Amino acid sequence: MEEKSGREVILDVRNLTKEFPVKGGFGKVAKSVKAVTDVSFKIYKNETFSLVGESGCGKSTTGRTVLRLVEPTRGEVFYRGEDLAKLSKKEMKKMRTKMQMVFQDPYSSLNPRKTIGAIVEEAMEINHIGASHAERTQKAMEMLTKVGIRGDQYYRYPHEFSGGQKQRIGIARALVLNPEIIICDEPVSALDVSIQSQVLNLLNDLKKELNISYLFISHNMSVVRYISDRVGVMYLGSIVEETETEELFANPMHPYTKALLSAVPEADPHRNTERIELTGEIPSPMNPPSGCTFHNRCPYATEECSVMKPKRREISDGHFVACHMYE
Ligand code: SF4
Repeated sequence: MEEKSGREVILDVRNLTKEFPVKGGFGKVAKSVKAVTDVSFKIYKNETFSLVGESGCGKSTTGRTVLRLVEPTRGEVFYRGEDLAKLSKKEMKKMRTKMQMVFQDPYSSLNPRKTIGAIVEEAMEINHIGASHAERTQKAMEMLTKVGIRGDQYYRYPHEFSGGQKQRIGIARALVLNPEIIICDEPVSALDVSIQSQVLNLLNDLKKELNISYLFISHNMSVVRYISDRVGVMYLGSIVEETETEELFANPMHPYTKALLSAVPEADPHRNTERIELTGEIPSPMNPPSGCTFHNRCPYATEECSVMKPKRREISDGHFVACHMYE
């Protein structure tokens, strides 16, 4: 799938929506939690696209719904033009080798009873990769070496490794399946700050070397700035702003993005670093506000904002914003 721009689209997410039913009395569905609403984005070959927002904004649910680890309520996900909703469970399992996931918690994502070599080999065995045990062992060793784990550590158990090393092992387990895209769900947030940059550098190096793309999910604006080519800012289940990373940090437009960025410590003394304090509670996704869902916290809200939902518009080349101020 190639666009006019010549860029190859790997993942095309259209109006993805996920609502979780909430049971009331007698097992009846009383309400639903609107976790993700009408989320659309594309990820191109060898690109890192990040979803950023406060915890509970729906970014992790978006990642899981893309992979059909949870089924979407509505919307479509195309991988290289193929509609994932049309795939059977068996076909989807095969497809997941091309779309891998790295989880937030490296401590619980590795089986403590297996050696790290066996963990990486098992991923290949389950997915029928490698003609023999010897071939799988060789590939697992190669991949672990690539992520910085030494050969003599192959038969050690997860508890013998640090958090950063465990995350490297998780990355190796994803990579042995030769994926084209990896969904990284807060992959460094459980790690010490000093280790975070090592893992981010590793992800960047692997991207260049293996020509892969990432859907990177994080609440941390500094991490997102470091790793991403483009960013989608999420608020209460929707993307409110989307553009290239440089543009987002130089010229944020949505009031929510401005507030998030104003809270990031900035080394540049010329930048206006006035902190924008958001007032009001984050609303419940079970009962989102009418109109613009950000209106109860927005310093620029007008009456229109509480009744009319703003449409997503392209303000400048590739810079999309959903806010009445730009209509
Ligand atoms: Fe603020 Fe209104 Fe824009 Fe929403 S639409 S972000 S409430 S100005």
